[in-house]
Amino acid sequence: MSTSPKTNAQLFERAQKVIPGGVNSPVRAFRAVGGTPRFIARAQGPYIFDAEGTRYIDYIGSWGPMILGHGHPAVLEAVHKAAVDGFSFGAPTEREVELAEEILSLVPSMDQLRLVSSGTEAAMSALRLARGATGRSKIIKFEGCYHGHADALLVKAGSGLATFGHPTSAGVPPEVVQHTLVLEYNNVAQIEEAFKLQGHSIACVVIEPIAGNMNFVRASVPFIKRIRELCTQHGALFIFDEVMTGFRVALGSAQGLYAKAIPGFEPDISVFGKVIGGGMPLAAFGAKRAVMQQLAPLGPVYQAGTLSGNPVATACGLATLRELRKPGFFDALSTSTRTLLDGLLASAKTAGVPMVGDCEGGMFGFFFADMLPTTYSEVMATDKERFNRFFHAMLDRGVYFAPAMYEAGFVSAAHTGADLRATADAALQALS
Ligand SMILES: *Cc1c(COP(=O)(O)O)cnc(C)c1O
Repeated sequence: MSTSPKTNAQLFERAQKVIPGGVNSPVRAFRAVGGTPRFIARAQGPYIFDAEGTRYIDYIGSWGPMILGHGHPAVLEAVHKAAVDGFSFGAPTEREVELAEEILSLVPSMDQLRLVSSGTEAAMSALRLARGATGRSKIIKFEGCYHGHADALLVKAGSGLATFGHPTSAGVPPEVVQHTLVLEYNNVAQIEEAFKLQGHSIACVVIEPIAGNMNFVRASVPFIKRIRELCTQHGALFIFDEVMTGFRVALGSAQGLYAKAIPGFEPDISVFGKVIGGGMPLAAFGAKRAVMQQLAPLGPVYQAGTLSGNPVATACGLATLRELRKPGFFDALSTSTRTLLDGLLASAKTAGVPMVGDCEGGMFGFFFADMLPTTYSEVMATDKERFNRFFHAMLDRGVYFAPAMYEAGFVSAAHTGADLRATADAALQALS
């Protein structure tokens, strides 16, 4: 280990010389909230420690994967063993089969899945699969949902239902997103209209069932039910992007929760990431056999990956899933998350600050607003300035929330009652 003292500011300055913006994923740069990003040196249980040795209670958990907390002994052991046996072979392994079996046993909507290395890759592949399987080009996504940074998904709404979207990133040609229609989340009338106008050419509808990329916004049950009906009626495929919600909101993921409210409900294609890798680069997409058999080498839809099903990543994911399927895991996790959220809301109430929030399993969100938002524009209308002040006040008190008000928070099984209480206490100070 290096002995020269390093501050976050020194590291950030050095990083900016060699990495654009000093970060390898934009939100880490703290642009939304201002200030200097913390360079993390290590983590243990519910805590992360920065380069200056400061400890934070971690409510990001690597943006979701660290559902057991950091350094879980069973996961560490599995990863260590796998690493000793070899990092990567570019050939099939038994552990990939085990991980696929494990995931499929928990998600009955899928007969088969394929492993990839990132959520972006999984969502992009799911889209290609939907288009290949239906022979159609058009796709529908919703404002405020993020599905990774594939070209066709970096889109914002056009001016009307008949017009397709505009790229949200330079470098994405308008022609590439001309088949992507962006609609308002939770707006039943809009999607009905879209199917009426374009139903025959829509390959798929992709959604974050609980949108964690606009903090925490649930798709209403009537909305999901209606999309399911429209997709079935028009021969389009319904894609559940569960990269964030998968094995995070419940053992059966978000689709399991909607199936309780809508008997027989299943999406056609599901996308997973984050938790299924336990912190290693791993993601997956899956569907019924007839759809999955469209993929190469069996079918005409090409998809591949040098590191797909990586032996160390699959060991990490498998060990993680085996912990969270233990009896009572999600009950305990849900109780912790509820306790955290109730503590935050109580502190805000005491301080006389309007705050609302929601949670499911180990995922939560809170807004400085009077009512829970249900659409992206409502999220945008919540108090961003207050969030930014709160973020820094909490960081100063050793609590690490996501550095942007558009991001969900995550509780792990390692967070103790004392951590949750300390967070509520810090919030009371921060808001008073
Ligand atoms: C994180 C996320 C992705 C992208 O996953 P990466 O591994 O970052 O590429 C896609 N969809 C959703 C819903 C996500 O939360």
